[in-house]
Order: sequence, then structure tokens, then C-alpha cells
Amino acid sequence: MINLTSDCKNCAALCCVALAFDKGEMFAFDKPAGVPCQHLKGPLCGIHADLENQGHRGCVQYQCDGAGQRVVQEVFAGQSWQDTPVLLGPMLEAFSQMRQVHGLVSLLTTAKALPLPEAKRVELETLMAELCPEGWTPDALAHFERSNLPKAVRAFLRSLKAFLP
Ligand code: SF4
Repeated sequence: MINLTSDCKNCAALCCVALAFDKGEMFAFDKPAGVPCQHLKGPLCGIHADLENQGHRGCVQYQCDGAGQRVVQEVFAGQSWQDTPVLLGPMLEAFSQMRQVHGLVSLLTTAKALPLPEAKRVELETLMAELCPEGWTPDALAHFERSNLPKAVRAFLRSLKAFLP
């Protein structure tokens, strides 16, 4: 069973580096993608307990769907870009790809609750199995991104409109 809940303790603050945000209601300042946030202190957020008061409601609300810890623990065997800076680029790339994988797994998991006919259920399980191989590697994630699989899952999800309540 894939864990689709963020587990920051087992991640390496990938979202605090990878993602861009703009100053506004959700964030206190602008941050470009791929640059560590100024509040990042070691592996953790230096203002974690005070995010809302400091104008970072967006950080409280963000969910990586469990992609971050999986990239660190499974794809990079517990290594961190903070100890091995050369890993930053590959880890950010894998994080972007894993967010896509987990986002699609999350949507398919939700779709399981629909009253689907057997043929659709079989199709769903086939796509789910392709999104959940034995283990992901950087090469496998890159291949996933280039493959037809993301498009196929989205097309399948669109085909379920008739079964929505
Ligand atoms: S404020 Fe904290 S949680 Fe938000 S991006 Fe910066 S380090 Fe990460």
C-alpha cells in the first residue's frame, strides 16, 4: 500500500527547494523554483511551529501526496542533497516525477469508490499496477514521464464522468 500522506521527517525538505511561490495571502515572499527557502535550517523548516503567523499558510496546506519521503527513502536510499549537493538536481527531478505518480495514484484510489462496471475496474487496476512497480529508480521515473502512461491514466479518469454521482 502506497503512503499518500506527506511524512516530512523522512523527506529532505524537497518541497522547500523544488517549488516556487509568490508573495501574497499564502506566502510572505517570492521564492523561485529550485532554490532553498530562506527559512530552511538543515533538514527542517526553521519556522515550522509558526508558519501561519509568519505568513506561510501555503506551506501548512501543501501536501506532496507522500512523494517527498518516497524519493528520499526509496529512490535515493535515504541519501540527501544536503549531505551530497550533487544529488540536488536528480532529487528535484525525481520529486517532480514522483508527485505526478502519486497524484495519479491518489486520483485512481478515489475512483475506486465509484460504482464502476467490471471492465472499468479491470482497467483501473491495470493502470494502478503500472503506477506501482516493485520500486522506483531515477531511470524508471524518467521513463514514466516520457511514456504514454500519464496520458492514459488521465484519459481513463475522464472516461469515468458517466459514473460520477
Ligand atoms: S517557510 Fe518553511 S515550510 Fe515553507 S518553504 Fe520555507 S522552509 Fe519550507
